[in-house]
Amino acid sequence: MDDRMFRTAMGKFATGVTVIASELDGEVHGMTANAFMSVSLDPKLVLISVGTDAKMNKIIQESQKFTVNILSGSQKEMSMIFSGQIKEERKVDFDIFEGLPVIENSLVSMACNVYETFEAGDHTLYVGEVMNLSLKDGEPLTFFEGKYKQMI
Ligand code: FAD
Ligand code: NAD
Repeated sequence: MDDRMFRTAMGKFATGVTVIASELDGEVHGMTANAFMSVSLDPKLVLISVGTDAKMNKIIQESQKFTVNILSGSQKEMSMIFSGQIKEERKVDFDIFEGLPVIENSLVSMACNVYETFEAGDHTLYVGEVMNLSLKDGEPLTFFEGKYKQMI
C-alpha cells in the first residue's frame, strides 16, 4: 500500500478540525490538526497526534501545555492559516484562557497540561489533561476526503 492509498482511506473518516496552540518564550504558535480524540472522563483526558518534525512538536515538548480549539463552520480561514494552506503570513489575534493562547470564537477551547507522551512512527501522541474549557453554540467545520465541508 502506498502513502496516497493510506491517506485516501483515512480521508474517508470525516472529522472536525482543530487548531492546537501553545506558547514558548512569549511566541505563540498554532497548528491545524484533525487527529484529536476524547480519551477519559476521570481524569478528563484528550489526545492529539503531532508530526515529529512539526514546529509545534518542539514547542509542546518544552512548554508541556497546549490548547485545542474546535473550529466552527465559519473558521475555515483559521484552518488554512495554521496548516500553511495560506502562504502569506496573517496576523491572528489570540485570546488568553487559563494563561494560554486560544482562537477566539471557536466552538470549544480547552486548556491542557501534558499528561503523557508517546512516540508513534513519524508522529508524537500527546495525552492532555483538560484543566478548563469554554463552550459556544454553532456548527462545526469538517474535513472529509481532503476537503473542508460545512454541516449546513
Ligand atoms: P508551521 O508549518 O511553521 O506553521 C503552520 C502555519 O501556521 C504557518 O503558515 C504559520 O505561518 C502559521 N502560524 C503559526 N503560528 C502563527 C501565529 N501566531 N500567527 C499567525 N500565523 C501563525 N498535522 C499533524 O501533525 N497532525 C494533525 O492532526 C494534522 N491534521 C491536519 C488536518 C488538516 C485539515 C490539515 C489541512 C492539516 C493537518 N496537519 C496535521 C498538517 C499541519 O497542519 C501542517 O503540516 C502544519 O504546517 C504544521 O505546522 P508546524 O507546527 O510545523 O508549523
Ligand atoms: P490528505 O488526503 O493528505 O488527508 C486525508 C487524511 O489522511 C487525513 O485526514 C489524515 O487522517 C491522513 N493523513 C494525511 N497526512 C497524514 C500524515 N502525514 N500522517 C498521518 N495521517 C495523515 O488531505 P490533504 O488535504 O492533502 O492534507 C493537507 C496536508 O495536511 C497534507 O500535507 C497532509 O499530509 C497534512 N495532514 C496531516 C495530518 C496528520 O499529520 N495527522 C492529518 C491531515 C492532514
